[in-house]
Amino acid sequence: MNDLRASLRIFATPGAILVLTALLAAFAPPLPDSLAGLYTLGPYAALLAACVVCLWFNRGRDLVLALSILAAFAGWRFALGWGPGAAPAKAAYAAMVLLVPLNALLAFALPERGVRYHGSWRWLVLIAAEALLVLWIGSSGRSALSGAAWQGILNHWLVSGPPVPLAGRLMIGAAFALAAWRCFPDYRPLQVGTAGAILIYFIGCHWAKSDATMALFVSAAGIAIMVAVIQESHTMAFRDGLTGLPNRRALEDDLKALGPHYTLAMADVDHFKGFNDTHGHDIGDQVLRLVAAKLAEVQGGGKAFRYGGEEFTVLFPDTAVEDALPHLEAIRAAVKDYRMAMRGEDRPKDVKQGSQKRGAVEVEKTLSVTISIGAAGPKEAGEKPEQVLKAADEALYRAKQGGRNRVSL
Ligand code: GH3
Ligand code: MG
Ligand code: MG
Repeated sequence: MNDLRASLRIFATPGAILVLTALLAAFAPPLPDSLAGLYTLGPYAALLAACVVCLWFNRGRDLVLALSILAAFAGWRFALGWGPGAAPAKAAYAAMVLLVPLNALLAFALPERGVRYHGSWRWLVLIAAEALLVLWIGSSGRSALSGAAWQGILNHWLVSGPPVPLAGRLMIGAAFALAAWRCFPDYRPLQVGTAGAILIYFIGCHWAKSDATMALFVSAAGIAIMVAVIQESHTMAFRDGLTGLPNRRALEDDLKALGPHYTLAMADVDHFKGFNDTHGHDIGDQVLRLVAAKLAEVQGGGKAFRYGGEEFTVLFPDTAVEDALPHLEAIRAAVKDYRMAMRGEDRPKDVKQGSQKRGAVEVEKTLSVTISIGAAGPKEAGEKPEQVLKAADEALYRAKQGGRNRVSL
Protein backbone atom coordinates (compact mmCIF):
# COMPACT_ATOMS: atom_id res chain seq x y z
CA MET A 1 0.00 0.00 0.00
CA ASN A 2 2.78 2.38 0.96
CA ASP A 3 4.63 1.24 -2.15
CA LEU A 4 1.65 1.90 -4.37
CA ARG A 5 1.21 5.36 -2.94
CA ALA A 6 4.91 6.14 -3.36
CA SER A 7 4.85 4.90 -6.98
CA LEU A 8 1.77 6.97 -7.75
CA ARG A 9 3.48 10.03 -6.34
CA ILE A 10 6.49 9.40 -8.54
CA PHE A 11 4.38 9.04 -11.69
CA ALA A 12 2.18 11.97 -10.73
CA THR A 13 4.94 14.56 -11.12
CA PRO A 14 5.83 14.11 -14.82
CA GLY A 15 2.17 13.25 -15.45
CA ALA A 16 1.01 16.56 -13.97
CA ILE A 17 3.62 18.49 -15.96
CA LEU A 18 2.44 16.77 -19.15
CA VAL A 19 -1.26 17.39 -18.53
CA LEU A 20 -0.74 21.00 -17.49
CA THR A 21 1.35 21.70 -20.59
CA ALA A 22 -1.23 20.06 -22.84
CA LEU A 23 -4.00 22.16 -21.28
CA LEU A 24 -1.97 25.34 -21.75
CA ALA A 25 -1.19 24.40 -25.34
CA ALA A 26 -4.84 23.68 -26.08
CA PHE A 27 -6.60 26.51 -24.27
CA ALA A 28 -4.21 29.36 -23.45
CA PRO A 29 -4.60 32.30 -25.84
CA PRO A 30 -1.53 33.06 -27.97
CA LEU A 31 0.87 35.61 -26.51
CA PRO A 32 0.69 39.16 -27.91
CA ASP A 33 3.47 40.02 -30.34
CA SER A 34 5.24 42.07 -27.69
CA LEU A 35 5.67 38.91 -25.61
CA ALA A 36 6.36 36.48 -28.45
CA GLY A 37 10.01 36.46 -27.42
CA LEU A 38 8.96 34.18 -24.57
CA TYR A 39 8.54 31.36 -27.09
CA THR A 40 12.31 31.42 -27.39
CA LEU A 41 13.25 32.61 -23.93
CA GLY A 42 11.01 30.15 -22.06
CA PRO A 43 12.65 26.97 -23.35
CA TYR A 44 16.14 28.47 -22.95
CA ALA A 45 15.44 29.42 -19.35
CA ALA A 46 13.93 26.03 -18.45
CA LEU A 47 16.67 24.01 -20.16
CA LEU A 48 19.47 26.14 -18.74
CA ALA A 49 17.99 25.75 -15.28
CA ALA A 50 17.78 21.99 -15.86
CA CYS A 51 21.46 21.93 -16.86
CA VAL A 52 22.46 23.90 -13.75
CA VAL A 53 20.46 21.57 -11.49
CA CYS A 54 22.04 18.50 -13.16
CA LEU A 55 25.51 19.98 -12.63
CA TRP A 56 24.67 20.83 -9.08
CA PHE A 57 23.38 17.35 -8.23
CA ASN A 58 25.97 15.57 -10.37
CA ARG A 59 23.54 13.87 -12.76
CA GLY A 60 25.46 13.05 -15.94
CA ARG A 61 22.74 11.36 -17.97
CA ASP A 62 20.17 14.06 -17.49
CA LEU A 63 22.75 16.74 -18.17
CA VAL A 64 23.46 15.12 -21.54
CA LEU A 65 19.75 15.07 -22.30
CA ALA A 66 19.12 18.67 -21.23
CA LEU A 67 22.23 19.96 -22.98
CA SER A 68 21.37 18.13 -26.20
CA ILE A 69 17.83 19.50 -26.21
CA LEU A 70 19.17 22.97 -25.46
CA ALA A 71 21.69 22.83 -28.33
CA ALA A 72 19.13 21.39 -30.75
CA PHE A 73 16.48 23.94 -29.82
CA ALA A 74 18.98 26.79 -30.18
CA GLY A 75 19.92 25.44 -33.61
CA TRP A 76 16.26 25.22 -34.60
CA ARG A 77 15.44 28.81 -33.57
CA PHE A 78 18.58 30.04 -35.32
CA ALA A 79 17.82 28.08 -38.50
CA LEU A 80 14.24 29.36 -38.67
CA GLY A 81 15.77 32.67 -39.75
CA TRP A 82 16.06 31.18 -43.25
CA GLY A 83 12.44 30.06 -43.21
CA PRO A 84 10.86 26.82 -42.06
CA GLY A 85 11.15 25.09 -45.45
CA ALA A 86 14.82 25.86 -46.10
CA ALA A 87 17.76 23.50 -45.64
CA PRO A 88 18.98 24.99 -42.31
CA ALA A 89 15.62 24.40 -40.63
CA LYS A 90 15.37 20.93 -42.17
CA ALA A 91 18.82 20.05 -40.84
CA ALA A 92 18.10 21.51 -37.40
CA TYR A 93 14.84 19.62 -37.21
CA ALA A 94 16.52 16.36 -38.17
CA ALA A 95 19.04 17.03 -35.38
CA MET A 96 16.22 17.50 -32.89
CA VAL A 97 14.55 14.22 -33.71
CA LEU A 98 17.63 12.11 -34.48
CA LEU A 99 20.68 13.41 -32.63
CA VAL A 100 19.00 14.34 -29.34
CA PRO A 101 17.58 10.82 -28.90
CA LEU A 102 20.88 9.35 -30.11
CA ASN A 103 22.71 11.17 -27.31
CA ALA A 104 20.05 10.11 -24.84
CA LEU A 105 20.38 6.49 -25.96
CA LEU A 106 24.14 6.66 -25.50
CA ALA A 107 23.83 8.29 -22.09
CA PHE A 108 21.28 5.74 -20.85
CA ALA A 109 23.27 2.81 -22.23
CA LEU A 110 26.45 3.92 -20.44
CA PRO A 111 26.71 3.72 -16.65
CA GLU A 112 25.91 6.90 -14.71
CA ARG A 113 29.27 8.23 -13.56
CA GLY A 114 28.22 11.72 -12.63
CA VAL A 115 29.19 15.02 -14.18
CA ARG A 116 32.57 15.11 -12.48
CA TYR A 117 33.69 11.86 -14.13
CA HIS A 118 37.03 12.59 -15.78
CA GLY A 119 35.81 11.33 -19.16
CA SER A 120 32.84 13.69 -19.28
CA TRP A 121 34.60 16.06 -21.68
CA ARG A 122 33.92 13.52 -24.45
CA TRP A 123 30.26 14.46 -24.32
CA LEU A 124 31.09 18.07 -25.05
CA VAL A 125 33.24 16.95 -28.00
CA LEU A 126 30.39 14.78 -29.27
CA ILE A 127 27.80 17.56 -29.01
CA ALA A 128 30.20 20.05 -30.65
CA ALA A 129 30.88 17.55 -33.47
CA GLU A 130 27.17 17.06 -33.96
CA ALA A 131 26.64 20.83 -34.07
CA LEU A 132 29.33 21.16 -36.76
CA LEU A 133 27.79 18.31 -38.74
CA VAL A 134 24.37 19.94 -38.64
CA LEU A 135 25.90 23.29 -39.61
CA TRP A 136 27.59 21.62 -42.57
CA ILE A 137 24.48 19.79 -43.71
CA GLY A 138 22.31 22.83 -43.07
CA SER A 139 24.47 25.03 -45.29
CA SER A 140 23.84 22.59 -48.13
CA GLY A 141 23.32 24.45 -51.38
CA ARG A 142 24.61 27.67 -49.83
CA SER A 143 28.30 27.02 -49.54
CA ALA A 144 30.86 25.30 -51.70
CA LEU A 145 31.77 23.08 -48.75
CA SER A 146 28.57 21.06 -48.68
CA GLY A 147 27.37 19.35 -51.78
CA ALA A 148 23.80 19.39 -53.01
CA ALA A 149 23.38 15.69 -52.18
CA TRP A 150 22.19 16.58 -48.68
CA GLN A 151 19.19 18.40 -50.13
CA GLY A 152 17.66 15.15 -51.32
CA ILE A 153 18.30 13.43 -48.03
CA LEU A 154 16.89 16.32 -45.98
CA ASN A 155 13.69 16.24 -48.02
CA HIS A 156 13.27 12.48 -47.73
CA TRP A 157 10.06 11.51 -45.92
CA LEU A 158 12.06 9.31 -43.57
CA VAL A 159 13.85 12.27 -41.95
CA SER A 160 11.92 15.38 -42.93
CA GLY A 161 9.43 17.10 -40.65
CA PRO A 162 7.61 18.41 -38.68
CA PRO A 163 5.70 16.36 -37.67
CA VAL A 164 8.26 13.84 -36.42
CA PRO A 165 9.25 11.59 -39.37
CA LEU A 166 9.53 7.82 -39.13
CA ALA A 167 13.28 7.75 -38.39
CA GLY A 168 12.72 10.30 -35.63
CA ARG A 169 9.86 8.33 -34.15
CA LEU A 170 12.03 5.24 -34.06
CA MET A 171 14.93 7.10 -32.44
CA ILE A 172 12.86 8.96 -29.85
CA GLY A 173 10.85 5.78 -29.26
CA ALA A 174 14.05 3.85 -28.60
CA ALA A 175 15.35 6.53 -26.22
CA PHE A 176 12.03 6.53 -24.39
CA ALA A 177 12.01 2.73 -24.22
CA LEU A 178 15.51 2.62 -22.75
CA ALA A 179 14.68 5.39 -20.27
CA ALA A 180 11.49 3.54 -19.31
CA TRP A 181 13.41 0.29 -18.94
CA ARG A 182 15.76 2.10 -16.56
CA CYS A 183 12.74 2.73 -14.32
CA PHE A 184 12.62 -0.94 -13.37
CA PRO A 185 12.59 -2.45 -10.87
CA ASP A 186 12.25 0.33 -8.34
CA TYR A 187 10.60 3.34 -10.03
CA ARG A 188 12.90 6.10 -8.88
CA PRO A 189 11.73 9.69 -9.42
CA LEU A 190 14.81 10.38 -11.56
CA GLN A 191 14.24 7.59 -14.07
CA VAL A 192 10.48 8.02 -14.27
CA GLY A 193 10.85 11.80 -14.64
CA THR A 194 13.50 11.43 -17.34
CA ALA A 195 11.33 9.04 -19.35
CA GLY A 196 8.47 11.52 -18.95
CA ALA A 197 10.70 14.36 -20.16
CA ILE A 198 11.51 12.44 -23.36
CA LEU A 199 7.82 11.86 -24.03
CA ILE A 200 7.08 15.55 -23.45
CA TYR A 201 9.98 16.52 -25.73
CA PHE A 202 8.61 14.26 -28.46
CA ILE A 203 5.25 16.05 -28.34
CA GLY A 204 7.07 19.40 -28.63
CA CYS A 205 8.94 18.20 -31.72
CA HIS A 206 5.79 16.76 -33.23
CA TRP A 207 3.93 20.07 -33.12
CA ALA A 208 6.95 22.18 -34.00
CA LYS A 209 4.91 23.98 -36.69
CA SER A 210 3.37 25.99 -33.86
CA ASP A 211 5.96 28.11 -32.08
CA ALA A 212 3.79 28.29 -28.97
CA THR A 213 3.14 24.54 -28.70
CA MET A 214 6.75 23.66 -29.25
CA ALA A 215 7.97 26.28 -26.78
CA LEU A 216 5.56 25.03 -24.15
CA PHE A 217 6.51 21.38 -24.47
CA VAL A 218 10.26 21.95 -24.78
CA SER A 219 10.13 24.16 -21.68
CA ALA A 220 8.10 21.46 -19.95
CA ALA A 221 10.72 18.85 -20.87
CA GLY A 222 13.37 21.02 -19.20
CA ILE A 223 11.17 21.49 -16.15
CA ALA A 224 10.47 17.73 -15.98
CA ILE A 225 14.21 16.99 -15.98
CA MET A 226 14.88 19.60 -13.32
CA VAL A 227 12.05 18.39 -11.09
CA ALA A 228 13.10 14.75 -11.50
CA VAL A 229 16.65 15.52 -10.37
CA ILE A 230 15.46 17.55 -7.39
CA GLN A 231 12.81 14.99 -6.41
CA GLU A 232 15.37 12.18 -6.60
CA SER A 233 17.77 14.04 -4.32
CA HIS A 234 14.99 14.83 -1.91
CA THR A 235 13.95 11.17 -1.78
CA MET A 236 17.54 10.08 -1.32
CA ALA A 237 17.97 12.37 1.65
CA PHE A 238 15.23 10.49 3.49
CA ARG A 239 16.16 6.95 2.48
CA ASP A 240 18.90 4.66 3.65
CA GLY A 241 21.07 3.52 0.77
CA LEU A 242 21.94 0.05 2.04
CA THR A 243 18.51 -1.21 3.04
CA GLY A 244 16.16 1.07 1.12
CA LEU A 245 14.25 1.83 4.32
CA PRO A 246 13.42 5.39 5.31
CA ASN A 247 16.22 6.74 7.48
CA ARG A 248 16.46 8.48 10.80
CA ARG A 249 15.75 11.90 9.31
CA ALA A 250 12.47 10.53 7.91
CA LEU A 251 11.67 9.11 11.35
CA GLU A 252 12.28 12.47 12.99
CA ASP A 253 9.85 14.07 10.54
CA ASP A 254 7.22 11.43 11.25
CA LEU A 255 7.68 11.82 15.01
CA LYS A 256 6.74 15.49 14.75
CA ALA A 257 3.40 14.58 13.17
CA LEU A 258 2.24 12.05 15.80
CA GLY A 259 -1.05 12.21 17.68
CA PRO A 260 -1.54 11.26 21.36
CA HIS A 261 -1.53 7.48 20.78
CA TYR A 262 1.25 5.57 19.08
CA THR A 263 3.83 2.86 19.62
CA LEU A 264 7.54 3.07 19.01
CA ALA A 265 9.73 -0.03 18.84
CA MET A 266 13.50 -0.32 18.64
CA ALA A 267 14.87 -3.47 17.02
CA ASP A 268 18.51 -4.55 17.17
CA VAL A 269 20.27 -7.49 15.53
CA ASP A 270 21.55 -9.99 18.09
CA HIS A 271 25.31 -10.58 18.28
CA PHE A 272 25.81 -8.68 15.08
CA LYS A 273 29.38 -7.72 15.83
CA GLY A 274 30.35 -11.37 16.06
CA PHE A 275 28.58 -11.94 12.77
CA ASN A 276 30.60 -9.26 11.08
CA ASP A 277 33.83 -10.53 12.59
CA THR A 278 33.21 -14.15 11.56
CA HIS A 279 31.72 -13.77 8.11
CA GLY A 280 32.90 -10.37 6.98
CA HIS A 281 31.31 -7.02 6.36
CA ASP A 282 29.63 -8.06 3.09
CA ILE A 283 27.65 -10.82 4.73
CA GLY A 284 26.94 -8.40 7.56
CA ASP A 285 25.43 -5.96 5.07
CA GLN A 286 23.41 -8.77 3.53
CA VAL A 287 22.02 -9.60 6.95
CA LEU A 288 21.04 -5.97 7.46
CA ARG A 289 19.21 -6.00 4.12
CA LEU A 290 17.41 -9.17 5.05
CA VAL A 291 16.33 -7.86 8.44
CA ALA A 292 15.22 -4.61 6.81
CA ALA A 293 13.15 -6.50 4.23
CA LYS A 294 11.39 -8.43 6.99
CA LEU A 295 10.80 -5.28 9.03
CA ALA A 296 9.39 -3.51 5.98
CA GLU A 297 6.67 -6.16 5.81
CA VAL A 298 5.39 -5.32 9.28
CA GLN A 299 1.59 -5.35 9.47
CA GLY A 300 -0.84 -3.37 11.60
CA GLY A 301 -0.01 0.01 10.10
CA GLY A 302 3.61 -0.09 11.26
CA LYS A 303 6.42 1.62 9.36
CA ALA A 304 10.05 0.56 9.63
CA PHE A 305 13.06 2.89 9.61
CA ARG A 306 16.78 2.29 9.74
CA TYR A 307 17.76 4.18 12.85
CA GLY A 308 21.47 3.66 12.30
CA GLY A 309 23.99 0.80 12.17
CA GLU A 310 22.16 -2.43 12.98
CA GLU A 311 19.33 -0.69 14.79
CA PHE A 312 15.88 -0.19 13.37
CA THR A 313 12.77 1.64 14.53
CA VAL A 314 9.19 0.60 13.89
CA LEU A 315 6.54 3.27 14.31
CA PHE A 316 2.84 2.49 14.71
CA PRO A 317 0.91 5.75 14.57
CA ASP A 318 -2.53 5.58 16.25
CA THR A 319 -1.84 2.15 17.75
CA ALA A 320 -1.59 1.22 21.42
CA VAL A 321 1.35 -0.90 22.55
CA GLU A 322 -0.76 -4.00 23.25
CA ASP A 323 -2.18 -3.84 19.70
CA ALA A 324 1.24 -3.41 18.13
CA LEU A 325 2.77 -6.25 20.10
CA PRO A 326 1.50 -9.19 17.98
CA HIS A 327 2.87 -7.53 14.81
CA LEU A 328 6.27 -7.03 16.42
CA GLU A 329 6.21 -10.62 17.59
CA ALA A 330 5.42 -11.68 14.00
CA ILE A 331 8.46 -9.89 12.51
CA ARG A 332 10.72 -11.25 15.26
CA ALA A 333 9.56 -14.77 14.35
CA ALA A 334 9.87 -14.09 10.60
CA VAL A 335 13.52 -13.04 11.01
CA LYS A 336 14.29 -16.03 13.24
CA ASP A 337 12.71 -18.52 10.80
CA TYR A 338 14.49 -17.20 7.75
CA ARG A 339 17.50 -19.19 6.51
CA MET A 340 19.92 -17.07 4.59
CA ALA A 341 21.85 -19.05 1.94
CA MET A 342 25.60 -18.48 2.12
CA ARG A 343 28.54 -19.98 0.26
CA GLY A 344 30.40 -22.47 2.40
CA GLU A 345 33.64 -21.18 3.86
CA ASP A 346 35.43 -24.44 3.08
CA ARG A 347 34.72 -23.87 -0.61
CA PRO A 348 38.04 -24.48 -2.38
CA LYS A 349 39.72 -21.43 -3.89
CA ASP A 350 41.18 -23.47 -6.76
CA VAL A 351 38.73 -23.54 -9.66
CA LYS A 352 39.49 -27.09 -10.90
CA GLN A 353 39.39 -28.60 -7.46
CA GLY A 354 36.30 -26.53 -6.78
CA SER A 355 34.36 -27.83 -9.74
CA GLN A 356 35.27 -31.44 -8.80
CA LYS A 357 34.07 -30.87 -5.30
CA ARG A 358 30.92 -29.06 -6.41
CA GLY A 359 30.11 -32.00 -8.63
CA ALA A 360 30.11 -34.25 -5.60
CA VAL A 361 28.41 -32.24 -2.89
CA GLU A 362 27.19 -28.68 -3.17
CA VAL A 363 28.78 -26.84 -0.29
CA GLU A 364 26.18 -24.40 0.84
CA LYS A 365 25.61 -23.13 4.33
CA THR A 366 22.72 -21.29 5.74
CA LEU A 367 22.86 -18.57 8.33
CA SER A 368 20.17 -17.56 10.71
CA VAL A 369 19.81 -14.32 12.60
CA THR A 370 17.64 -13.12 15.41
CA ILE A 371 16.56 -9.69 16.53
CA SER A 372 15.52 -8.27 19.87
CA ILE A 373 12.78 -5.66 20.11
CA GLY A 374 11.80 -3.16 22.78
CA ALA A 375 8.47 -1.33 22.51
CA ALA A 376 6.92 1.61 24.31
CA GLY A 377 4.06 4.09 24.01
CA PRO A 378 3.35 7.46 25.64
CA LYS A 379 2.36 6.83 29.28
CA GLU A 380 0.96 10.26 29.96
CA ALA A 381 -0.31 13.12 27.84
CA GLY A 382 2.46 15.46 26.74
CA GLU A 383 5.21 12.87 26.83
CA LYS A 384 7.59 13.64 23.98
CA PRO A 385 8.30 11.05 21.23
CA GLU A 386 12.02 11.35 22.11
CA GLN A 387 11.21 10.16 25.64
CA VAL A 388 9.11 7.30 24.27
CA LEU A 389 11.98 6.33 21.99
CA LYS A 390 14.26 6.28 25.02
CA ALA A 391 11.76 4.06 26.84
CA ALA A 392 11.73 1.71 23.84
CA ASP A 393 15.53 1.62 23.97
CA GLU A 394 15.38 0.66 27.64
CA ALA A 395 12.86 -2.07 26.82
CA LEU A 396 15.27 -3.29 24.13
CA TYR A 397 18.01 -3.47 26.74
CA ARG A 398 15.72 -5.67 28.86
CA ALA A 399 15.06 -7.89 25.84
CA LYS A 400 18.82 -8.33 25.43
CA GLN A 401 19.27 -9.02 29.14
CA GLY A 402 16.41 -11.50 29.05
CA GLY A 403 18.23 -13.67 26.53
CA ARG A 404 17.68 -11.90 23.14
CA ASN A 405 15.34 -13.00 20.31
CA ARG A 406 12.35 -11.57 22.14
CA VAL A 407 10.03 -8.56 22.36
CA SER A 408 9.97 -6.61 25.64
CA LEU A 409 7.91 -3.73 26.95
P1 GH3 B 1 23.91 -7.36 20.82
O1 GH3 B 1 23.26 -8.69 20.65
O2 GH3 B 1 24.09 -6.99 22.25
O3 GH3 B 1 23.18 -6.29 20.07
O4 GH3 B 1 25.36 -7.48 20.19
P2 GH3 B 1 25.88 -6.76 18.91
O5 GH3 B 1 27.19 -7.39 18.56
O6 GH3 B 1 24.87 -6.80 17.85
O7 GH3 B 1 25.97 -5.25 19.38
P3 GH3 B 1 26.94 -4.08 19.05
O8 GH3 B 1 26.14 -2.83 19.15
O9 GH3 B 1 28.14 -4.16 19.94
O10 GH3 B 1 27.40 -4.31 17.55
C1 GH3 B 1 27.01 -3.51 16.53
C2 GH3 B 1 27.93 -3.78 15.35
O11 GH3 B 1 27.23 -3.53 14.15
C3 GH3 B 1 29.12 -2.91 15.29
C4 GH3 B 1 29.44 -2.78 13.83
O12 GH3 B 1 30.52 -3.63 13.51
C5 GH3 B 1 28.21 -3.34 13.13
N1 GH3 B 1 27.64 -2.45 12.13
C6 GH3 B 1 27.05 -1.26 12.34
N2 GH3 B 1 26.63 -0.74 11.15
C7 GH3 B 1 26.95 -1.64 10.18
C8 GH3 B 1 26.77 -1.70 8.75
O13 GH3 B 1 26.23 -0.79 8.12
N3 GH3 B 1 27.23 -2.80 8.08
C9 GH3 B 1 27.83 -3.82 8.75
N4 GH3 B 1 28.25 -4.89 8.05
N5 GH3 B 1 28.03 -3.80 10.08
C10 GH3 B 1 27.60 -2.73 10.79
MG1 MG C 1 23.41 -2.21 18.60
MG1 MG D 1 23.14 -5.74 18.09
